Amino acid sequence: MSERAVAAADVDIAIVGGGLVGASLALGLSDTGVRVLLLEGTAPASSSQPSFDERTTALGNASRRIFQALGVWADIAPHAAAIRTIHVSDAGRFGFARLRAEEHGIDAFGYVVANTVIGAALWKRLAAAPGIALRVPARPESVEITPDSVHFTVASDSGTRERASARLVVAADGAHSSIRAAAGIAAQVEDYEQVAIVANVAVDQPHEATAYERFTPSGPLALLPLHDGSYGVIWSCRPQRAAQILALDEGAYLRELQARFGWRAGRFVGAGRRASYPLKLTRAAGTVAPRTVLIGNAAQALHPVAGQGFNLGLRDAAMLAEVVANAAGDVGSQALLQTFAKWRAFDRSGVVRFTDGLVKLFADSRPAVGLLRDLGLLLFDLAPPAKSALARVSAGFGGPTPRLARGLAVRRA
Ligand SMILES: Cc1cc2nc3c(=O)[nH]c(=O)nc-3n(C[C@H](O)[C@H](O)[C@H](O)COP(=O)(O)OP(=O)(O)OC[C@H]3O[C@@H](n4cnc5c(N)ncnc54)[C@H](O)[C@@H]3O)c2cc1C
Repeated sequence: MSERAVAAADVDIAIVGGGLVGASLALGLSDTGVRVLLLEGTAPASSSQPSFDERTTALGNASRRIFQALGVWADIAPHAAAIRTIHVSDAGRFGFARLRAEEHGIDAFGYVVANTVIGAALWKRLAAAPGIALRVPARPESVEITPDSVHFTVASDSGTRERASARLVVAADGAHSSIRAAAGIAAQVEDYEQVAIVANVAVDQPHEATAYERFTPSGPLALLPLHDGSYGVIWSCRPQRAAQILALDEGAYLRELQARFGWRAGRFVGAGRRASYPLKLTRAAGTVAPRTVLIGNAAQALHPVAGQGFNLGLRDAAMLAEVVANAAGDVGSQALLQTFAKWRAFDRSGVVRFTDGLVKLFADSRPAVGLLRDLGLLLFDLAPPAKSALARVSAGFGGPTPRLARGLAVRRA
């Protein structure tokens, strides 16, 4: 167990979950002078770490700026691949759209990075950050939320038990959040009946910084350019079909993928290990309760179709760090929680609706809907304002922009 000199017993903020979002929040708070305890259930470099796993993540420009402000981008950038063109198409139909970063006056729409790289950069920085007590692998037990504070036991895998209390507990413990349950916040779960199969796939031609999103009747198929010249493939399909695809040997998988995607990106010549993720929309009924805040997947876990889940969760973390830095006194006050919830509401509901709508629009097999999609994609390709609006949403500018997302540090007054 990694134990830092900072005591866990009585802190201002306890963050449960040190995955992509929780670790980012801890770093965001490290300059604010508040005492932070971060509990993570699985060691960051462990092969069973659920957040820093085999996936790759498309980071928008706002996320890049947040990582720059947190001091981790320098470690991530050498392993990041820029997305300069996005190609969207509807399998078997004529509509397609192409977005080019230069047409929007930006260098790139975003950057694709392996989750393991992000995890290593965040935890390297955390190990040197002041004011943060790290407990890993450790989990909270017997969580009791009172009007003034939150009390719990820190149970480490090594068998030690510590009593701790905090003015505020942050649930960054993912879609199945136990803190969300302890706070009595309900979550609505909608099963898309799709499974995402993720693999790195080598091709015989350069990707030229192009990402592809191809909508098929059984689910979207995305190819993200990677730093080593290959693609991160996210193939979403019905569970039964997913089981078949997972059982294929490498050659058969590549042939199926080629048949499903076509030849636009070249010939697929090799594939790494495949991993699968059942896809659901999990939406908490609210993001705050007394002495409790939900961020990242604990607040909303999305379909990966538009690559928005982490980007949205990182903006949750950035805004919470800012609200805490601006607070004069109690960091778990009702006023602080209400400010956070209000400032995040627009971005959160907009991205959830956009992502969910995209999944459902392209899953609809009625011919008239297919035609509308074709026309929509064509008009979209021809209409610069629509493309600019999407580029801005993808870049993470729905609602108030956190200071960190503008590349500015947060410090307590
Ligand atoms: C296939 C796929 C592709 C994706 N691609 C993208 C993309 O390109 N762009 C994007 O923005 N998003 C993407 N996402 C979404 C993104 O992965 C999630 O939004 C992100 O992982 C959320 O991070 P989180 O830290 O909130 O939760 P998680 O990643 O679920 O992390 C939760 C952490 O909490 C820890 N934990 C859980 N319970 C406890 C406990 N009781 N005590 C202590 N620790 C605990 C876990 O060990 C874990 O480290 C994708 C998702 C999938 C499934």
